[in-house]
Amino acid sequence: MAIVDRALEGRVALVTGGSRGIGRAICEALGRRGATVVVNYAAREDAARETAALVEAAGGKAVTSKFDVSKSDQVTEAIKQLGKDQGGLDILINNAGVAINGLVMRFKDEQWAQTLDINLAGAFYCTRAASMLLLKAKERGRVVNLTSVVGESGNGGQAAYAASKAGMIGLTKALAQELSGRGVTVNAVSPGFIETDMTAEHLPEAARAALLTKIPLGRIGAATEVADCVSFLCGPEAGYITGQVLRVNGGMLM
Ligand code: NAP
Repeated sequence: MAIVDRALEGRVALVTGGSRGIGRAICEALGRRGATVVVNYAAREDAARETAALVEAAGGKAVTSKFDVSKSDQVTEAIKQLGKDQGGLDILINNAGVAINGLVMRFKDEQWAQTLDINLAGAFYCTRAASMLLLKAKERGRVVNLTSVVGESGNGGQAAYAASKAGMIGLTKALAQELSGRGVTVNAVSPGFIETDMTAEHLPEAARAALLTKIPLGRIGAATEVADCVSFLCGPEAGYITGQVLRVNGGMLM
């Protein structure tokens, strides 16, 4: 059930990879609660604009911001500009990610580097660039990092992806300790298999059927189900939750 109060009115949220999939659903969920949402994207400007329109239709405000989270200089510049334009930043959602799959014996250096640079270093660059703004937000400050079930369980053919998502959990816990002094909370949300472009690309029909047998709830999840948990962690009701990993996986890892 989506949270529909206006508790995030007046708060500014940056959602990396907000143009599509889970990121888009998070933007909408935060907009529904009244937030001003900065919708980051890497390439798909059309999709980012669609997300911004959905945020406004849901009752929030939205702007788009193009930068590659794996490029430290772009991140620093964009977040500095965002701070000036919006007058601050209260919520950072490190959601941008890629899944580059393949067996270790054939995996290339560039594929390893790209996965780690976007999925893990990207979250580090964004949080570092945002940290002064978040500390100024004090108890309103929130960071939510998107990890994955495979960051805890591992998965054959996803060594780089799993390593990046396991790293995200360590990053979350370290940041939670560093930022807690001013009341900023840092948590991770760990989805199982969710219906988005990412799973459409990497999950053929036969693999999908086999996967369903491993999910106690017997279905793939919806992006909105992840977004509602992120929205909860961003609200005042979650002010005493930090350093945690909230699993949204239909029971596939307990
Ligand atoms: P998706 O549908 O493939 O969307 C990926 C998003 O990330 C897009 O908005 C894309 O922007 C953006 N992006 C990619 N590289 C970027 C970069 N270098 N800089 C900035 N933005 C970049 O993915 P998703 O399924 O929604 O996944 C979102 C997050 O949830 C990821 O971190 C993923 O690992 C995690 N997750 C997903 C699942 C799942 O089953 N789907 C499960 C567990 C965890 P453009 O539109 O511009 O390309």
